[in-house]
Amino acid sequence: MNKNIEITKRFGTCSKDCYGSCVFVGEWNDQAHEKKLIKTIPLETHPLTNGFFCPKFNYREELLYHPNRLKSPLIRTDSKGTNLFKQISLESALNLTIEKLNYAITQFGSSSIVAAYYAGNCGLISKLSPIRFFDELGATIRTGGICNEAGNYALSQMFGTYSTTNPFQIINPNNRLIVIWGSNLSDRNNHAYFLVKQAIKGGSRVVVVNPIKTNLAKNATLHLQSLPGTDYLVAKYVINKILEAEKLDRDFLTQYVDNFGEIFDKVRNFNKEQILLHTGLTEGELDNFTELLLEHKHKTLFIVGFGPQKYFYGGKNLNTIALIQILLGNFGKPGTGFLFSQSGFNHTYSDLLIQYITQQKKEPQRNSFPLATLGSSLNSNKYKMLFIYNLNPASSLPNQTILRKALLRRDLFVVVLDMFLNETTKYADLVIPVKFDLECDDFITPYFTPGISINQGGPCPYSDCLSSYEFFRLLANRCKWIDKNLFQETQRELYEKCIDLLPKEIQQKLKLNGYYIPFGLNDIPYQNLNFPTFNGKIQIHSSLLDLFDSNPDLLSPRGQNEFYLLSPAHKYFIHSQMGEIHHEFEDDFKKVFLNPSDIDYINLKVNDEVLVSNEFSNGKYILDQNTALKSGIALIYSGFPFANAPIKNVNFFTSDKPEESELSGAYFSTKITISKI
Ligand code: SF4
Repeated sequence: MNKNIEITKRFGTCSKDCYGSCVFVGEWNDQAHEKKLIKTIPLETHPLTNGFFCPKFNYREELLYHPNRLKSPLIRTDSKGTNLFKQISLESALNLTIEKLNYAITQFGSSSIVAAYYAGNCGLISKLSPIRFFDELGATIRTGGICNEAGNYALSQMFGTYSTTNPFQIINPNNRLIVIWGSNLSDRNNHAYFLVKQAIKGGSRVVVVNPIKTNLAKNATLHLQSLPGTDYLVAKYVINKILEAEKLDRDFLTQYVDNFGEIFDKVRNFNKEQILLHTGLTEGELDNFTELLLEHKHKTLFIVGFGPQKYFYGGKNLNTIALIQILLGNFGKPGTGFLFSQSGFNHTYSDLLIQYITQQKKEPQRNSFPLATLGSSLNSNKYKMLFIYNLNPASSLPNQTILRKALLRRDLFVVVLDMFLNETTKYADLVIPVKFDLECDDFITPYFTPGISINQGGPCPYSDCLSSYEFFRLLANRCKWIDKNLFQETQRELYEKCIDLLPKEIQQKLKLNGYYIPFGLNDIPYQNLNFPTFNGKIQIHSSLLDLFDSNPDLLSPRGQNEFYLLSPAHKYFIHSQMGEIHHEFEDDFKKVFLNPSDIDYINLKVNDEVLVSNEFSNGKYILDQNTALKSGIALIYSGFPFANAPIKNVNFFTSDKPEESELSGAYFSTKITISKI
């Protein structure tokens, strides 16, 4: 390296929708013509980043300056459904957007304009500042999401929060048993995986509950390979056995739990044969699990992934799993608890930032619909203009047939903000090139690491690339909202104002380290067992336990050649991102995987071309085997990250009926039939 290069160091946080939220130092050469970010060094001092990234994203500078990165606005030159565009100036793109906005507002009203966004960039400013623009317009704004929102809601009904313990309990010496339920840590959360391996070295045992034999399941003390969506039945069995053995923690229940008697009534209706049939587990496996839990009472931690709540009744799945820990009194003690999402610990300060960033009123009166229903909602002709940012709906949202039909509407003008052409830009009329996360000042409030961290934006070499805030600020200027104090600040000024809103201690930590974590390694959340409910006690409502009485239709018997469909993200991709730097795995998305015994049973062979079908769609795939899958389950990877490939992404087979709270998607409540072509 040239010794005369002046290096500027900036803190950064990976803003991808990922458990990691890795914090690092970026080394920049601000004077370079193009490749200004030289390298990123993951922080060794950060107790969860622990000095390493994931294999998905070791070299983010490759993506930042990738030749395919969009550098100019693009306007469609062919019909929708293709990525055929021509470049236009930023000025023309802004003028056209304003023209279309004015037309939509005058002809159809401002609610005909829709904002669809998610967490493709988790930065608070990136994700939420455009709400200033859309609220001022009176536009329709999506609600909910597609990830963990159902679980957050369900757990909050019990605990008043969805964050009840922190990840440091994994390595607390008091822990003896870690139950990893519905989470593939080695593929999706490599920092928690690292901690669990440390805990195993320290003597903790591991139970895995997952339809897939994950890396940790291979060497676990016990692997319960239950059928998808039957988590509540596993929980019901275990709870019944705990009651039968009279090993519940009565003191804990009496002091800290309201209405716990409801549980006894609900689990009394217990049909062992039905549970074994539906879960696909043996009595021995379930009894072993119960014994391990009883042996390690007050020393057990549950790590629960987002998978169990991706069903129509997903939130209740989580509630029933949590009941096991409640009955055993496994809260507030070192090395115990229920680890799901951490962002609930941040509300005292993140709410201040969000309020300022969005400038939203306390009870905003808006038109809205759930994000998971974008397709069916847009099929209504009342919507005429759609803005999509931080989201690749033509890959990530369910029921692609309905969604794409809506996006193809000629009378729907679609503006997409993105870094690369992708499946969604095929439906855009106008594409705006955006900045990478590291090129913008921003805040990240992670969901596995409690706390907050920052991106100190470095320079972007492409003059037409904008952050989402900058794009909507330019539009606001053209709307002449001069007298409205909405977009007067630059993004840097907005960021600095937000820093000023934070408590001094957090400001100092962010300046010094790039991150703030509200816990030390030995801090135990809710050690006083005073939860943020109306009376401080854990709340058990009978409605949360409804599942114990009902038989959701997913459990209807499978037909001939029919399989439960799981669609996890691929190890080297984050939902629909990373296609540019991991092309070597493209073929994995063209396959449907089954257990070898199922392939034999339906008289097919590996590499056969097969037709995958269900009530939503059909499409060709290549059949492959995966011994990690339980018999009866098919797997197609989600987050198809390549535009223009000749396959249908898995979300052609998923339902857009959201989870019952309507806050997130029910991606795993689906079955497919596989037949030879
Ligand atoms: S994708 Fe996740 S694990 Fe990988 S660098 Fe980003 S935050 Fe870390």
